[in-house]
Amino acid sequence: MEYQMICTSCNARFSSSYPKQVCGKCNSMLEVEYDKYPKRLTVSASFWDNEKMLPHGKYRHYEVGGTKLIKSHSSSNLFLKLETGNPTRSFKDRGSVIEVAKAAEYGYGEIACASTGNMAYSISYYSKLFGIKARVFISSDANVHKIDDILSTHDAIITKVNGDFNKAQGMAERYCAAHKSFLGGDYCYRKEGQRTLAYEIVAQVPDVTHIIVPVGNATLISGIYKAAEEMKRLGALAEMPRLIGVQAAMCSPVVKALKYGNGIKYERPATIADAIAVGMPAFGYQAIESINRTGGAAVSVTESEMLIEQKNFYREYGFMAETAGVAAIAAFKKIKLGGNYKAVAIISGGNV
Ligand SMILES: [Zn+2]
Repeated sequence: MEYQMICTSCNARFSSSYPKQVCGKCNSMLEVEYDKYPKRLTVSASFWDNEKMLPHGKYRHYEVGGTKLIKSHSSSNLFLKLETGNPTRSFKDRGSVIEVAKAAEYGYGEIACASTGNMAYSISYYSKLFGIKARVFISSDANVHKIDDILSTHDAIITKVNGDFNKAQGMAERYCAAHKSFLGGDYCYRKEGQRTLAYEIVAQVPDVTHIIVPVGNATLISGIYKAAEEMKRLGALAEMPRLIGVQAAMCSPVVKALKYGNGIKYERPATIADAIAVGMPAFGYQAIESINRTGGAAVSVTESEMLIEQKNFYREYGFMAETAGVAAIAAFKKIKLGGNYKAVAIISGGNV
């Protein structure tokens, strides 16, 4: 679809040829706004079949998404969306395949990002396919095995940052401001790509009532909300599902903001769930809006609940999911839904 970009802070507008994801006036994040939607929408469980809903761009149909959805072994009302089936074993690939294509389309030879692990892995993978360089700023709480994997297979330039994700993020931003490098990561194009997860879920479980989503930077839950709202409006979905955001108890700024109602406060990440260890989520306020507008909830899960669930998952399904990846199952057990429901838990990643 043709689109413009609008600043989330000062409302400045930019055309789709503007080659950045942050506002040229105030440096805040931009949001993609489509000029014209199709009159009616049918969704597919295959990623590129939903391309008509993506920002108009020069994409290459690399393998991504179209992941399996299986019935949980523990509850007949729970389904598991296995994002571990993506090329770099996390949902990040849905955003990276779009974002890296945009960087290439705008003529950049390099894309830079901050990461706790999965983002770097995913961006490096697609950058290599597109023939552009990837530069990643890795926080000190990142998973060392993920970094080793990136170094050995994807030729990314890695800078280890002595600090958390938000510090690494600041470094990536300053680097891109000073060099001709596309600032990638949790920004608008990624969010647009991650909407496809919701299209696939609705194609697979048309009457889904709850979607349980791990929340780090909150790009995924915000993208799912945007896609669900579009599907409802365009006749592809009868009822909006409730969105349940899940964070680690040791890093839960969105859960606390909803509980105490006094805004999102930075929290020093202390969780083993590296994929959701973000102290100040970029899309935090959008996450709160997504949860509130769908009558959803935010839940925190403890380190031991995730570790137990990780073991259970391996025993039940025969492959590994990361701690953040099973957080949605742990949350499902905590919230105890009643009545007639069909819940989908997003198993967000499997890089262990
Ligand atoms: Zn602005």
